[in-house]
Amino acid sequence: MKSILITGGAGFIGSHTCLQLLQQDYFLYILDSYVNSSPKIAERLDKLLCQINQKLRDKFKFIEGDIRDESMIDGIFKCSINENRPIEGVIHFAGLKSVAESVSSPSLYWDVNVGGTIKLIRIMEKYSCRTIVFSSSATIYSENNRSPLSEDSEIKPYNPYGQTKANIENLLKDLYTSNDSCWRVINLRYFNPIGAHPSGLIGEEPRGKINNLFPYLNQVASGNIKELKIYGNDWPTIDGTGVRDYIHIMDLADAHCLALNYLIKEKKATLLSINIGTGRGTSVLQLLKTFESVNSCKIPFRFVDRRLGDIAISYASNDLASSILSWRPKRNLSNMCIDGWRWQKLNPYGYE
Ligand code: NAD
Ligand code: UDP
Repeated sequence: MKSILITGGAGFIGSHTCLQLLQQDYFLYILDSYVNSSPKIAERLDKLLCQINQKLRDKFKFIEGDIRDESMIDGIFKCSINENRPIEGVIHFAGLKSVAESVSSPSLYWDVNVGGTIKLIRIMEKYSCRTIVFSSSATIYSENNRSPLSEDSEIKPYNPYGQTKANIENLLKDLYTSNDSCWRVINLRYFNPIGAHPSGLIGEEPRGKINNLFPYLNQVASGNIKELKIYGNDWPTIDGTGVRDYIHIMDLADAHCLALNYLIKEKKATLLSINIGTGRGTSVLQLLKTFESVNSCKIPFRFVDRRLGDIAISYASNDLASSILSWRPKRNLSNMCIDGWRWQKLNPYGYE
C-alpha cells in the first residue's frame, strides 16, 4: 500500500478525492488547517467508509496544520517513515480560492498559495518525494482564448488567484526541468466542479460570502436567499447568460485517482497539464432550468449588470484527459443538480 499526503483534504474537492482514493490501495495523511472546511469531515468519511467496507476505516489520518509551517510538514514526513509507510506522493489541494478575495488581499493569496507550495516542495525534496498532483484552474487561461480551451491555449491570468495558480505551475515546471531530479508532476486544470457525493454525506460547504453560481442556486432553492441575481443577459451566448463547463465533483475526484495512479507507475520525469471539464458549455439559465426540473422546485431570478472580470464562455477540451488518463465524465448535469441539492437538503447548516 502506498502512502500519500493530501493537503487541503478536508475541503470540497479534497474530501471527495480522499473517499475515492481510500477505496484503492492507498494510505492517506490528510493535512488541513480547516480555514475553509470543518474537522467534522473525518466523521463523515468514516461513516461512508463504514457503509462501503469496514476495513477501509483505518487507512487515513487527519493532521491539523498550515502548509506554510515547514517544520509541521517535515513532522508528517518523519512520522510516515516512523510508521513504516513513507509518503510517496502528494495531492496538493490546500490553498485559498476566492477570486474576489484575491483581488482585495493579493499578498495573502501569494503567501498561502505560492509561499505554502514552496514550503511543501522544500520538504518533499528533503525526503526525495517528487510526485505531485496539483490543483490548478481554468482561471489561468487568457480571457481572449476561444473555447473549447485546450491545454496549449494562451495562459494569461486576469486576477491574483489565477496568477498564483499559473506561478505554481511555473515552479513545478522549473523543478521538472532541473537536471538532478526526477519530478513527476500533473497539473489538473479544473473547470467548474459542482454537485456532491450521492450519499448526501459530503459536499461543498460554502463559508463566508457566496460567490459561485451553484452554491447560490442551493441557497435560493432552500429559501435562504430570495432570488438569484444573474450577471448579465447580453453575453454573446445561446441565451445571453454566461456559459461554463460544470463538472460533477465525483468525476473530478476520479480524475485525481487516475492522475495519481499514472504518476506512481511512471518511472521517468513527467510534466503534464490536463484540463478536467466535460467539454460542454452550459449557460446560467440552462443550469437553472435543469435544477428546477430535476428537483421540482422554483428558482426566482433577476437579471443584473455583468460581474466585473467575467467572461462570456469558458469550456474545456478534454481530449488530453481522455487520451492520457482514460478519463471521461460519467455524470451529467441532472446528476450534478440532484446530488448537489440532496447534500444541501440533508445538511442545511453544512457539517455543523
Ligand atoms: P476548499 O476551500 O473547499 O478546499 C481547500 C482546503 O484547503 C480547505 O479545506 C482549506 O481549509 C484548506 N487550506 C486552505 N489554506 C490552507 C493552509 N494554509 N494550510 C492548510 N490547509 C489550507 O476548495 P476546493 O474547492 O476543494 O479547492 C481545492 C483546490 O482546488 C484549491 O487549491 C482551489 O484553488 C483549486 N480549484 C478549485 C476550483 C473550484 O471551483 N472549487 C476550481 C479550480 C481550482
Ligand atoms: N453567476 C451568476 N450569478 C451568481 C453567480 C454566478 O449569474 O450569483 C454566473 C457568472 O456570471 C458566470 C457563471 O454564473 O457566468 C458561473 O459563475 P461562477 O462564479 O460559479 O464560476 P466562474 O465564473 O468562476 O467560472
